[in-house]
Amino acid sequence: MESSSEDVVRVDGGGGAGDPARPETGTPEAVVVGTVVAETDAPGAAVAEAVVAGAAAPEGVAKAVTAKAPASLSPSRAGDFMQCPLLYRFRVIDRLPEKPSPAATKGTLVHAVLERLFDAPAAERTAPRAKSLIPGQWDRLREARPEVVELFADDPEGERLAGWLVEAERLVERWFTLEDPTRLEPAERELFVEAELDSGLRLRGIIDRVDVAPTGEVRIVDYKTGKAPRPEYAEGALFQMKFYALVVWRLKNVVPRRLQLVYLGSGDVLTYDPVLADLERVERKLLALWEAIRLATETGEWRPRPTKLCGWCDHQAHCPEFGGTPPPYPLPVTLPVRAAESGGGAQGRMGPG
Ligand code: SF4
Repeated sequence: MESSSEDVVRVDGGGGAGDPARPETGTPEAVVVGTVVAETDAPGAAVAEAVVAGAAAPEGVAKAVTAKAPASLSPSRAGDFMQCPLLYRFRVIDRLPEKPSPAATKGTLVHAVLERLFDAPAAERTAPRAKSLIPGQWDRLREARPEVVELFADDPEGERLAGWLVEAERLVERWFTLEDPTRLEPAERELFVEAELDSGLRLRGIIDRVDVAPTGEVRIVDYKTGKAPRPEYAEGALFQMKFYALVVWRLKNVVPRRLQLVYLGSGDVLTYDPVLADLERVERKLLALWEAIRLATETGEWRPRPTKLCGWCDHQAHCPEFGGTPPPYPLPVTLPVRAAESGGGAQGRMGPG
């Protein structure tokens, strides 16, 4: 089940098009010149500080200007960077808006239903009860995120909405063929976790469900509303789970006994029983990833990596691979020494786009 490539993180160098000029400040001391929210999918989003250290550069060499990399990673954002560094930049640094999608919104709705079902006594956690929660949770979702209403703005008769809600019902029903909530008593639901590694990198995320056996063994469960991946792609799917396992291990000093992915779209359950070496490997991978993100943050070089997943990317209009231009890079960047020595300077190379 393990892939030998797990420790390998592609580190992209130059090539990010359209990066703009960095701000020149001439500031004599290190000062914070701006902030960006680094992670958007977890409570208490981390903030990355862009720091300008203007006075320390030797004469004749471009001023050392650095932007601090985000201090935390979630599985989603780590996955973004591995998929496409430019996509990570658009989401984390630029924070470009993204339209809600019917599939993702349905996933949010189904997750909310499965979480709330455990409020009921065990014997009442039935499929009809779960389905009866859907309308109320849909109302709550619309209240919390009014933008999801746009999904059905062109559906005055409500036909598409009705079909979409039926699909959500089917996903909820399928869960009952995979797990029996009357026999489960989760220790945690929608658990926000955060742990800091020795390096200072903070890992954070939200675990759908944590079960703890009387013996103390921990099971981490994540619901997916899509279909299970083919076996050759299972390792990628498990990355998120091992990420969570690493966080739990760091927090509790306990290696989770089991990682369980419940695929409601296809009716599959994927499990993996990690060992300590798995978690250490994931930690090394994340540190390499963080270093790559730090480098890209400092240089402003975020390479697009086109794949078939581009079809789901909201940012093609800003992507050079699709004829677009990224917005001006909002952080100061480190000037490559070679540019300073050649007299060209990074400002010319990264001039306003
Ligand atoms: S369209 Fe593709 S290459 Fe461009 S930013 Fe999106 S995922 Fe990356």
